[in-house]
Amino acid sequence: MKFSFRKAALASAASLAMTIGAMAQADDVRVATDPSFVPFEMMDQASGEMVGFDMDIIREIGKRAGFEPKINTMDFNGIIPALQTGNVDIAIAGMTITDERKQVVDFSDPYYDSGLQLLVGVDNDDVKTVDDLAGKKIGTKIGSTSFDFLTDKFGSDATITPYPGSADMYMALIGGSVDAVFYDAPNVGYFSQTRGKDRVKVVGPLYEGQQYGIAFPKGSDRVDAVNKALAAMREDGTYDEIHAKWFGKAEE
Ligand code: GLN
Repeated sequence: MKFSFRKAALASAASLAMTIGAMAQADDVRVATDPSFVPFEMMDQASGEMVGFDMDIIREIGKRAGFEPKINTMDFNGIIPALQTGNVDIAIAGMTITDERKQVVDFSDPYYDSGLQLLVGVDNDDVKTVDDLAGKKIGTKIGSTSFDFLTDKFGSDATITPYPGSADMYMALIGGSVDAVFYDAPNVGYFSQTRGKDRVKVVGPLYEGQQYGIAFPKGSDRVDAVNKALAAMREDGTYDEIHAKWFGKAEE
């Protein structure tokens, strides 16, 4: 009698543990991203789903760390405030790790090496480097590291127009309202080979080496689990597979 009672108690403890495990598995986590920062996050027109390098990375991290990412898109400039107010739990948006941002949010370990580059109209032969932009009209995005770079460099010696989103910024270049767009290298590179093909071209060197990190509200207890998942993905080749899917094979 006593023995079977214990067995039953053990069995129900085990099933309770399994239920808790399943609940942790189904933990919905609110993830903020930029509506369009190709090829890191973009809307797949056919499915209406957000796809891209960052989306694959965060879904894989979610699988490993036991959470279900619920993707919310918002203007890039709204992402840090959304983390600060606790409206979202995580942000992945090709966000550059900077000392200034570290004061208000926590970052994961870096997950992507980047930099800034110039994009001009396909027929523009006057602009080859950032120094050629004095007195010109330059488009970039509100709240980005490129905006900071441009204002530091030019102050009022150039007309810097920050747009809320990538689409507006690229349309301004194609429509001729700005002479150049200055933005993240992988983003301008991808745009020039896809929707901007034959209309725009990337020129000049890479400026300001940067690294992207996943961001969290300050003091978030999710940082460790995300870093562990990232490290394991690098270790077992999953990171390289996702990288090759969106950027092609590494040229070495
Ligand atoms: N990497 C840039 C930044 O953090 C831009 C990111 C984006 O537009 N999504 O400022």
